[in-house]
Amino acid sequence: MIRFCLALAAVFISGAAPSAAQEGFGGLARLNAEASAITAKRGELRIQLALSQGVPFRIFTLDAPARFVIDFREVDWAGTLGPELVQTDLVRAARVGGFRPGWSRMVLELAGPFALVHAVLNTGAADGSADLVLTLAHTSPEAFAEGAGVPDPQPGWDLPPPADVGAAPARAPGAPLVVVLDPGHGGIDPGADAGGTLEKDLMLGFARELREALLRAGDIDVVLTRDDDSFVSLERRVSIAHSARADLFLSLHADSLGEGSARGATIYKLSADASDAASAALAERHNRADMLAGIDLSGTDDVVADMLMDLARMETQPRADLMARALVVGLKDAGLPVNSRPLRSASFSVLKSPDIPSILLELGFLSNGRDLGNLTDPAWRGNMAQAITDAIKAWMIADAANSRLVRQ
Ligand SMILES: [Zn+2]
Repeated sequence: MIRFCLALAAVFISGAAPSAAQEGFGGLARLNAEASAITAKRGELRIQLALSQGVPFRIFTLDAPARFVIDFREVDWAGTLGPELVQTDLVRAARVGGFRPGWSRMVLELAGPFALVHAVLNTGAADGSADLVLTLAHTSPEAFAEGAGVPDPQPGWDLPPPADVGAAPARAPGAPLVVVLDPGHGGIDPGADAGGTLEKDLMLGFARELREALLRAGDIDVVLTRDDDSFVSLERRVSIAHSARADLFLSLHADSLGEGSARGATIYKLSADASDAASAALAERHNRADMLAGIDLSGTDDVVADMLMDLARMETQPRADLMARALVVGLKDAGLPVNSRPLRSASFSVLKSPDIPSILLELGFLSNGRDLGNLTDPAWRGNMAQAITDAIKAWMIADAANSRLVRQ
């Protein structure tokens, strides 16, 4: 019965919704968050989204953990991040936001196996607004698993394939150092939120400023893992670094820490064992980003398990250690605020490249007022970009000297 209803919903979705959008007033459909809610009644889950106009959408589910995904072409979420729409324990986590340019996504992490039983897009209001109402009912874990997965390619519904980065040619001796800068989060994954100031936006801006500082320093090429507000999976961030044959991978963050009054820059390197509980929690939160963005993780190996194997054959780790220490010294020399325990380690998936020294830099904590003030101050960011550039230059020299020593 559930399968039959799903088929009906699919016909409705591919037929009616696009024409509704074509007859719309143009421009982006905008969510009215006040008139939207995710609620439960008698064990059924109800997703009601009030949109300023009809918009094409598609629906699918993902397993392990159970998630419900709606893709839209394209919705302005009007500052809504997702959690504020949820009024039921049947949804553990919710995210809404951009996915790739022209595409938006809603992802709900479900408390159990649920299947779509009814979908309707009510249009016809004089102002052109549209009400999308989806009803989900409990199903068996087996049925859920069977129905889960990213849909087969549908005409007009395929997300654009990620641009093929392609491997760069092997570099000549004396060629510029390649630094891959990784602005944390992006698109549907906002990162930390300090009263509307989002980590993803701050880090994209800072990565661009740091790119300029590095290019000015000379002898350095810079590649960004994202240069717009798109979602980029953790795996893809790592693969971009490999394709660019990076000498150094630097992930840029400014997270929130709930407990305590953490402040100042913190430098993380990869380790199977986190240096403290807060570091472990931070890594866990970052590693969940792909899951919460609706990426199908089935069939991919546990990246952290891979990393443990990689660690065993890593000669990269001492080079990453050297970079981490160069950053602490560089920031302190520049008089920039450094955390009281600046060197930490945790199992961040994005640092798992076995052959590229990889560091995650928390520039400061958005949960700390002083750090937030610094991060939103262009002059402070300029000093920070220069200090990181100086640290990378110092590391280049030390790393080259070390590699000569190793070869002798
Ligand atoms: Zn972050």
